[in-house]
Amino acid sequence: MSRPQTSHLFYQSRQRRPVLDQARGVYMWDVDGKRYLDGSSGAMVCNIGHSNPRVLEAMRKQMDKSTFGYRLHFETEPAELLAARTAALAPEGLEKVFFVSGGSEAVESAIKLARQNAIAIGQAQRYKIISREPSYHGCTLGALALTGYAPLTAPFDPMMRPMPKIPAPRAYLDGLDPDDEATGRHYADMLEAKILSEGPETILAFIVEPIGGASTGALVPPKGYMQRIREICTRYGVLLIHDEVMTGGGRTGKFFAGEHWNVDPDILVISKGFAAGYAPLGAMIAHKDIVTNVLDNGGFLHGFTYAGNPLACSAGLAVLDEIERENLCQNAAETGALLKSELKKLMDRYSIIGDVRGEGLLLAFELVEDRASLRPLAKELNAFNELVDIAYENGLIIYSRRTRGGYSGDHFLIAPPMISTPDHVAEIIEGLDLSLRQFL
Ligand code: PLP
Repeated sequence: MSRPQTSHLFYQSRQRRPVLDQARGVYMWDVDGKRYLDGSSGAMVCNIGHSNPRVLEAMRKQMDKSTFGYRLHFETEPAELLAARTAALAPEGLEKVFFVSGGSEAVESAIKLARQNAIAIGQAQRYKIISREPSYHGCTLGALALTGYAPLTAPFDPMMRPMPKIPAPRAYLDGLDPDDEATGRHYADMLEAKILSEGPETILAFIVEPIGGASTGALVPPKGYMQRIREICTRYGVLLIHDEVMTGGGRTGKFFAGEHWNVDPDILVISKGFAAGYAPLGAMIAHKDIVTNVLDNGGFLHGFTYAGNPLACSAGLAVLDEIERENLCQNAAETGALLKSELKKLMDRYSIIGDVRGEGLLLAFELVEDRASLRPLAKELNAFNELVDIAYENGLIIYSRRTRGGYSGDHFLIAPPMISTPDHVAEIIEGLDLSLRQFL
């Protein structure tokens, strides 16, 4: 193939990658026939594995009927069915599903719906959305303003309205016990302090990844944190938005990660695992009262052309079928527990592994200089790229965020498809063990 002219050349590393030929289940092959175990489901997307024949068949059937019907011209059966099934899985009251084509679009939709709700209920002075640092909520300018990740946001700061941030509850870095309720209270109360210092009447919403993604590396909140966050939001009339773009769809062992704490947000966004890589699809799921307020006040001033197209929705429906038929949430919980315990065993062999964390099949390990200081690994910050590249050579795909300066720690996400078996776990651990040995 001639030198590619596509998007990855826009990135700093300009690292050439193999050319993908085909993918089946948890494996991918390049055009030279080399096989890779997809240890991160792409970017935590391909939750049910690659090329599932039942999903492909469902999409083929839909393609024979129609691939596009503009949402203002037609309702479509796949969109209506998928909305009903998604709402049935969502917390009580979150009944209205607004389709989009990706995570950033879903977050933008949540921002705008929250704002229009405030105007509709006579609270137009509310416009600030509090988020956490580090966090990732997307790359469009609205979602980026909520993203707590300076290496990605700094050049665009003059173009965005600054939004308040509170620290993500990285208890392990602060030497606090995540299983102690006092720790959860300590971090959650930072939200209340921020609301008070900014002026409660100006705060529209708080957005949180219930279990962290790329920015915090599968950070699981400390005990009591999510419940207290909910209480604080309710107390001040602040909408709670769960960004489940990465966690939604079963990867953490529950269909929505919020279920781990029985905490219901006011608005929920999902995307990656929703159509699991078979089509671009995402959704904002909002409480019916919020949607009623906005509809009664002139309607939602927002929408994307491709949203809710029948082909993407048919993929979403077939993915849901597969999750239910194969009991994949439970498999993510069980296989994830095994993978996590095997990753923890690697800590005995490698003192540079400072932390292993996560839930279900959204797991991460963090490399440190030493466990006492927990300083990010000092290796000339190509630790990220280097370990990822070595693993690649060894036929294992792992995920790291490529930025400068170890801004959020040198963590690597391990998140294979939810169809993974104990044999795949053994293969991942073997590949990692070999790669870490070569890395040192
Ligand atoms: N929110 C979270 C938590 C994410 O992990 C991501 C993507 O990684 C996004 C939003 C943005 O999604 P997308 O890349 O599909 O626009």
